[in-house]
Amino acid sequence: MGGIIFWGIIRTAILIPVLWILYGMTEYRYWWWLGIFSVYGIIIHPAMIQYRMFLKENDEVINNTLCSSCKNFDKTAVICLKYDKHPTLDNLPCEGMDWEPVELKNEEKEIHS
Ligand code: SF4
Repeated sequence: MGGIIFWGIIRTAILIPVLWILYGMTEYRYWWWLGIFSVYGIIIHPAMIQYRMFLKENDEVINNTLCSSCKNFDKTAVICLKYDKHPTLDNLPCEGMDWEPVELKNEEKEIHS
């Protein structure tokens, strides 16, 4: 996940000066379209593809581990929020000792309300 953000920042850092240079070389009305398409094509679309690949690579961990039913698991980043570590198929950061069912979140809301 960090790699997606890192490369997004790198692409943005490269694209901004390039667009800045092209601003003086192209007509204003074309420059806007160039900017819009290049932001989508160089920053947003590759990040979306990388994120889809990330989810596909971690599909087993997201859906078929003890963490997938734990309230401390963040599926979007595939990380245990309690230990701040990425679970794998072979290694759960807590080794199952701190597992808490997702349903507890709703019960806790009822207790606090
Ligand atoms: S507390 Fe344990 S079971 Fe829950 S997400 Fe973290 S490592 Fe997985």
